[in-house]
Amino acid sequence: MAQVLYPRLAVIGCGLIGSSVARAARGAGVVGEIVVADATPKARERVMALGLADEVTADPAQAARGADLVLLAVPVLAMAEAARDVAPALKPGATLTDVGSVKASVAEALAEAAPPGVFVVPGHPIAGTERSGPDAGFAELFENRWVILTPQKREDEPYLEAVQRLAEFWQALGSNVERMDERHHDLVLAVTSHLPHLIAYNIVGTAADLEEVTRAEVMKYSAGGFRDFTRIAASDPTMWRDIFVANRDAVLEILGRFTEDLQALSRAIRWGEADKLFELFTRTREIRRGVIAAGQESPEPNFGRDRHQP
Ligand code: NAP
Repeated sequence: MAQVLYPRLAVIGCGLIGSSVARAARGAGVVGEIVVADATPKARERVMALGLADEVTADPAQAARGADLVLLAVPVLAMAEAARDVAPALKPGATLTDVGSVKASVAEALAEAAPPGVFVVPGHPIAGTERSGPDAGFAELFENRWVILTPQKREDEPYLEAVQRLAEFWQALGSNVERMDERHHDLVLAVTSHLPHLIAYNIVGTAADLEEVTRAEVMKYSAGGFRDFTRIAASDPTMWRDIFVANRDAVLEILGRFTEDLQALSRAIRWGEADKLFELFTRTREIRRGVIAAGQESPEPNFGRDRHQP
């Protein structure tokens, strides 16, 4: 029997990630009761029908009242308001966390909103799919995935214990936990997740706008690499709009580097520098092998659905 780490868990926003946390936490037996807050009546109905929570409400403060762990699982630009909504209801000793894909701005918003005596420990599970809503979640989503916690620069024992407890919570859900500075997180994710999504959105947009190649041809011959881009470019527009707005500086920095490298590739193709192309393609093959060796290959055959890592 697993140890109950948080007698009362409040999940604010029960979409893909929030509902997956609720399912996994219940399955792992690490929480007592689960309360969900969601603004949409249809989502609340689904939460109850799916048995994801003991209590469901439209009011984030009501959900957070008396909770030991309050997990914000709303889009990145909605985090500040969600934190302000729950703040008056947070009890001393509670932990306030989130699952947002951008950390520096969210960490600042959570710290600003939280009353003294509440432990703010921002987090980001590097796990997801391109689907949304409470029906899209599943308990295994976090298994063998990384969760990055970006704790505040505090060394006092109660805070360190709160961070440790949250790490144990995610481990119980099957994740590996890493602690990281929030700005470093945003730079790392800009290169591993945000830029790839930007490229996918761009290439699918370019193909859709081409006049010489018909849309039917794009669909018909999509196996030549394009199909994978369309999967990524089908990701939730709200979530990704928020990520690019909130992580502007890191994305622009990485985009600048990417553009320079692309120019160099373009020159190599123009001048027929076959060796340069071969050398790069050989080097990148090694990276792919590294990803597989790290157990982060996607899709997972056992789930029959694509998992990616915003
Ligand atoms: P989702 O399935 O679309 O769920 C979003 C949730 O946020 C829904 O409950 C939605 O409520 C609520 N919401 C939307 N706009 C809101 C607003 N303005 N104010 C308050 N609540 C609002 O999205 P998700 O994929 O779970 O993403 C949630 C968070 O997880 C995001 O911060 C995202 O960056 C992060 N994340 C996502 C992934 C991924 O792959 N999807 C992976 C890691 C982290 P309604 O029912 O009212 O629409």
